[in-house]
Amino acid sequence: MPRDQAGRASAGKGIPSGQMTYFLSLGSNLGDRKRNVDRARRSIERSGIKILRASSVYRTEPVDVRDQPWFLNQVLKVRTGLKPQELLDLAKSIEKKMGRVPAANKDPRTIDIDILLAEDTVIDTPRLTIPHPRLAMRNFVLVPLREIAPKTVHPLLRVTIRDLARRSGDRSFVIKHQQALSRSRAGSKAAEG
Ligand code: AMP
Repeated sequence: MPRDQAGRASAGKGIPSGQMTYFLSLGSNLGDRKRNVDRARRSIERSGIKILRASSVYRTEPVDVRDQPWFLNQVLKVRTGLKPQELLDLAKSIEKKMGRVPAANKDPRTIDIDILLAEDTVIDTPRLTIPHPRLAMRNFVLVPLREIAPKTVHPLLRVTIRDLARRSGDRSFVIKHQQALSRSRAGSKAAEG
């Protein structure tokens, strides 16, 4: 078995064994949304999880319950030795620490952290479903995920993220937060939300 630089058993290519790559979705539509997303990302990092890539932050139109503030969303590619259930525990503890109050499923939230993908792992339990069941239907996930992982294949649908995004029937509006800020400075209506 190969060894990494710290002398640990390794799965090769310098990767310690037992490590897994995940994609996480961060979302906020309550309070200072940008600060909430940034804080959640820093909390994830501080807990020892390595952030390999981060998408741009996007401003996204609410789906389902449309009469609520727009969201900011970001997708992260991370690497950790945590198992999926442990990663979910960590996500829930960060949400709690950041003051998310348990509310109805689709209500506004300070921060929402979802596990989208865990390599080719498929989990279907009452508490945890991976791949995330709504991943393929939501522009607010597909667009940031496509930015950082267009060629990643959905392990159940056997389709790349790029193709899922192309085929998405979701017509909700998604724009890069920075772009929306520039447009709003220029006084454009397209920057609403
Ligand atoms: P949410 O309202 O998005 O925080 O999700 C509510 C519940 O969905 C959580 O308490 C989890 O137990 C459950 N859940 C199931 N699958 C997932 C997943 N892939 N990522 C995050 N939460 C999940």
